Parts: sequence; structure tokens; C-alpha cells
Amino acid sequence: MICETICKNRFFQPKPCPVSYLRLWSSACDNLSVFKTHQKENQREKMVEEFAFDNTEERRKIRRNNGAGWIEVIVGSMFSGKSEELIRRLRRAQIARQKVQVFKPVIDKRYSIEQIASHSGMTHISKPVMTAKELMAQIEDETQVVGIDEGQFFDMEIIQAVNQLANSGKRVIIAGLDQDYTGKPFEPMPQLLSIAEFITKTHAICVKCGETANYSQRTSDSTARVEVGASDKYEARCRQCFVPHSDAPTIV
Ligand code: ADP
Ligand code: ZN
Repeated sequence: MICETICKNRFFQPKPCPVSYLRLWSSACDNLSVFKTHQKENQREKMVEEFAFDNTEERRKIRRNNGAGWIEVIVGSMFSGKSEELIRRLRRAQIARQKVQVFKPVIDKRYSIEQIASHSGMTHISKPVMTAKELMAQIEDETQVVGIDEGQFFDMEIIQAVNQLANSGKRVIIAGLDQDYTGKPFEPMPQLLSIAEFITKTHAICVKCGETANYSQRTSDSTARVEVGASDKYEARCRQCFVPHSDAPTIV
């Protein structure tokens, strides 16, 4: 108000009024602070978005209200980051001081018998089990989170088992291959996808062309459905580069 009065009074003066400068400056400051607030809000939104990707904390709160648990399934081809994602979620649960139990089928001895491991070297302690029944026998009452890796190597009883765990209030996170080396759905993962509350599909990078890979290309001669291996026997391929049988490895 004072400023406007002074400005009007100085309307005919050749030099701009210093108070106007002051006003301009203060409005610029206001804009800057509005900008900063917007920036902060954007950052917050981004964080919420990132959080929502997993948003298991929120789910946990929602679910706790009615006492029921739930099932999260992580599927994708080999090298797509399923184990990394499973380990990330398990670590967060442990940071939240929840009681976690992790299992993997005995068949998978690639890196260690007592650990689940990613191709990038992330590990998490786990118990080896032969069957779904054996897994269930080891579940402790106070366990809040049950992690299972390589779900495709379990028998069909795993479907009933994870349902039972979720019904009893536990959060179950199960990772596994959704397709075998010929591109066929890999039981029991399709059934687990059907009963899961939350599904995450992970993708690798096609080693032939760099596109998004959805397939595990077998590069060894075996025709057995289950052939445990890593980059010695498999590589990630996209739809275009995948062949539904063994193929020569890509030379890079
Ligand atoms: P999955 O459990 O799905 O087999 P992992 O979590 O064990 O996958 O490993 C994912 C890691 O594999 C990636 O972070 C990356 O370091 C490595 N990797 C090797 N080859 C590829 C590829 N072709 N595409 C993407 N990641 C790859
Ligand atoms: Zn490709």
C-alpha cells in the first residue's frame, strides 16, 4: 500500500522508484518460495510414487485392520531381478523388525544351500526344503513374513500352503519363473498368480538385441523341463530373439 502510494507519486519521475524494485524483489522471492514449495510437493509425490511401487507398508497397515495376511507374487524370466526384488522386500521387513522366514527348494544349489542369491550377488539367509509340506512344518507361529524363492520348483501343494499362510495373517512373498525354457507356463506359478493379491512382473534385457526380455533361453542341450543353471545354461531373450528350444549361446 505504502509502496503503491509512493510509486504513484513518482509516476512522472524518469528513474524507477527503489520501493518498486523492492516490491519486484519481494514478489520474485514469493514466486521462488512458491516454486520451492511446489518442488518439495513434487519430490514428496515422487517419494510416494516410489513407495507405492512396493507400498507394502501401506498394505500392511490396511491388512492388519482385519487380521488377514496376503500373497505377493514376483514373476519373470531368468536374470529379470526376481530374487533381487524378493531380497529387497525381505530386508525392508526386517528393518521394520518383523519376524521373517525364508525358504527355497532343495533343488536349487547354484550359489548356496542355506541362502537365496541373486545373479548380482545379493543374498539372504534361507532354509532349504523339499516340499510344500516340509515348508509348512517349519513355519513358526510368530512369523509375520514368509519369503519363498524359485516357486516353480515346488509341488502343487504350495498353492494351498500359501493360501493357508495368508489366511492365518502372514504376508507371503513368492518369486519364481512364470515360463519354462519353451515358453510354457511353469506350474505352480500360474496358479499362484491367480490367488495372489499383488503381482509384480520383472523383465531382463535381451542379450541378443537389448530389448525387454521376457524369456529364459536355454543354451545347453538338455530337454528336461527342470535343468538348474545360470548363465552357463540360460540367457535372457526378447520375443523376437527367443526360440522355444535349446539354442546356441549368443556371442558377445
Ligand atoms: P532372477 O531372480 O530373475 O533370475 P536375479 O535377481 O538373480 O534375477 O538377478 C538380476 C541381476 O542379474 C541383474 O541386476 C543384473 O545384475 C544381472 N543380469 C545378468 N544378465 C542380465 C540380463 N540379461 N538382463 C538383466 N539383468 C541381468
Ligand atoms: Zn532380442
